[in-house]
Amino acid sequence: MLKIKLHISLVIVAICLFSCDPKEKDDDITTDPLKIDRKALIIGIDGFRSDIMQESITPFIYSLQHENAYYNLAHITEEITYSGPNWSSMLTGVHLNKHNVTNNAFDNNDLNDYPPFFEYIETADSDINTGSIVNWTPINTYVLSNMSDYAPLEAMNDATVFENAYNMLVDGDPIDVDVLFLQFDELDGAGHAYGFSPLIEGYINTANTIDSYVADLFDIIQSKRANGEDWIYMIISDHGGEGTSHGDATHPDINTTIFLAEHPSLQFSSDCCYISNQTDLATTVLDFMGISSTEFNNNTDGVSIIEQ
Ligand SMILES: [Zn+2]
Repeated sequence: MLKIKLHISLVIVAICLFSCDPKEKDDDITTDPLKIDRKALIIGIDGFRSDIMQESITPFIYSLQHENAYYNLAHITEEITYSGPNWSSMLTGVHLNKHNVTNNAFDNNDLNDYPPFFEYIETADSDINTGSIVNWTPINTYVLSNMSDYAPLEAMNDATVFENAYNMLVDGDPIDVDVLFLQFDELDGAGHAYGFSPLIEGYINTANTIDSYVADLFDIIQSKRANGEDWIYMIISDHGGEGTSHGDATHPDINTTIFLAEHPSLQFSSDCCYISNQTDLATTVLDFMGISSTEFNNNTDGVSIIEQ
């Protein structure tokens, strides 16, 4: 996939030999042949306040703490707790002072200098099939659409995000995906409509519905593992909430959220001893896949949660 892009890149490399930004041509990407065939499912759940992580509300996600997993309910958001800055930090592996996404309009961003981890995967091996299915379309519009083999831009609800993910993972439709990012948005919508709280029915019912989606996705990953594929399964959120908003983070219910990563045999950092932040997602995915880029490594603020 992305063969056209590769050809364009080769032309640019040729043109750049004398004139382009030295940072571009200095990037040196290496891959670990023992890891490059690994696969990743990253599930983003917008507006997940950590204290709804209860057996009665999100029984599947709650149960993941009993698996071999990194399980952090005090994951630190960006200081600006809008969605745009946080999804950007997760996907680029750098904080907002670098990617400069400070709001949900993505204006004046510097995502060209700090691209999402999808770009490093595609550059490392363009045969890897990458996909992104999102309810909140600015993620694909501004961050992933040019970097991914399949990243639709049309609006869709959470049920359709799940349906698209199912079609890709189970039927290879429209691509047999190796790295898939998903974003469910209706929990954030419920929080804005009814309130972000474990006591508010409209919010926790939505969390329960999303829990059933991610449980079904986990079953799919388990059957792929049984067929010999090596998948990491991750769940992350952009921010929590308080009352019916999350705009200004001075409250732990807003500026901490969840980050979970599960794999049958990896050793993860202990959540007692390392408190993750948004930039750790990209670093962890590239580490898992054995992809090392000098550009990314020089830029990133993230730390891989996988113990070496
Ligand atoms: Zn959000």
